Amino acid sequence: MVQTDLSSLTFEELAEALKELNLPSFRAGQIYRWIARGAFSFEEMSDLSKDLRNQLSQRFSLACVAEETCQVSSDGTKKYLFRLADGNHIETVLMRYEHGNSVCISSQVGCNMGCRFCASTLKGKVRDLTAGEMFAQIAYINRTDPVSHVVVMGVGEPLDNFDALVTFVRNLSSPKGFGMSQRHISVSTCGLVPKIDALAALNLQITLSVSLHAPDNETRSRLMPVNGTYSVEELLAACDRYTKATGRRISYEYIMIHSVNDTPRHAELLAKRLQGKLAHVNLIPMNHVEEREFSPSSPERLRRFSDLLTARGINVTCRRKLGKDIDASCGQLRARFERKPKN
Ligand code: SF4
Repeated sequence: MVQTDLSSLTFEELAEALKELNLPSFRAGQIYRWIARGAFSFEEMSDLSKDLRNQLSQRFSLACVAEETCQVSSDGTKKYLFRLADGNHIETVLMRYEHGNSVCISSQVGCNMGCRFCASTLKGKVRDLTAGEMFAQIAYINRTDPVSHVVVMGVGEPLDNFDALVTFVRNLSSPKGFGMSQRHISVSTCGLVPKIDALAALNLQITLSVSLHAPDNETRSRLMPVNGTYSVEELLAACDRYTKATGRRISYEYIMIHSVNDTPRHAELLAKRLQGKLAHVNLIPMNHVEEREFSPSSPERLRRFSDLLTARGINVTCRRKLGKDIDASCGQLRARFERKPKN
């Protein structure tokens, strides 16, 4: 019999699924809370009778992750390589900030989007993660390091796994469950326009981070194949609709690549594109990826780019480079692990 994964259901769906066991309705709340507290098996649900735990494990399952390796940086950043139940691997990063612990989770095993500066896409997408598997990454880390913020910015394109992402966000922010404020959740996208509109219609209070990486179609198409489907103009128009529908500021991610997208001309055009918008630009120092042709912008070029945007009135920050001494950019740890000969 196929077991239904309870951790990938919303509270309402879980309550409905449990009806077949004829349990009193308060059990749904109890089990949902256990999942939010990070239970990876029914055995851990110590306030349920042994009989009920057996019944549940025959009919249902729970998503879990197992730690394969963990790299710890001198700045406290931890990069986990997790093994999923089917043997696939994903990466998750814990970053420490003054405002608390932020976890960057993966949403897919691999990625199909083909961004040319990214190691996660080298072998394409293997499969989507379930909502339960997205949450399990947080649950695992939360046992030792309380998690206050979540960014869905690791391996995968979250909006390419839309339904699971939305269930995950609803569960993570449910007052009946983990109870994280939606304002502490960021979701990134490389620019899937119809999905941005679908997300806007849900009026969630999450932060949308758009991986822009270039202000013109020529440069962006060179870096991101998705630009061949949705141009810069179409993407920015969708972002405007998103802001209008939700009142939320968009964070535009911009990875700084030497002589590709970091010239004054790019900065000027970016400033022009974002003028007057509820927007914020996050400049990201590029991590070198062995298999990729690009190199990072120098600190001087980065500063010049940033100053130019600031002078044009654009809100800009530069992402602090955490985990410099470990395989910090997404996909690198998994790629390295999978290249290693197995005994
Ligand atoms: S940057 Fe993100 S969307 Fe692009 S290939 Fe990498 S994981 Fe996929």
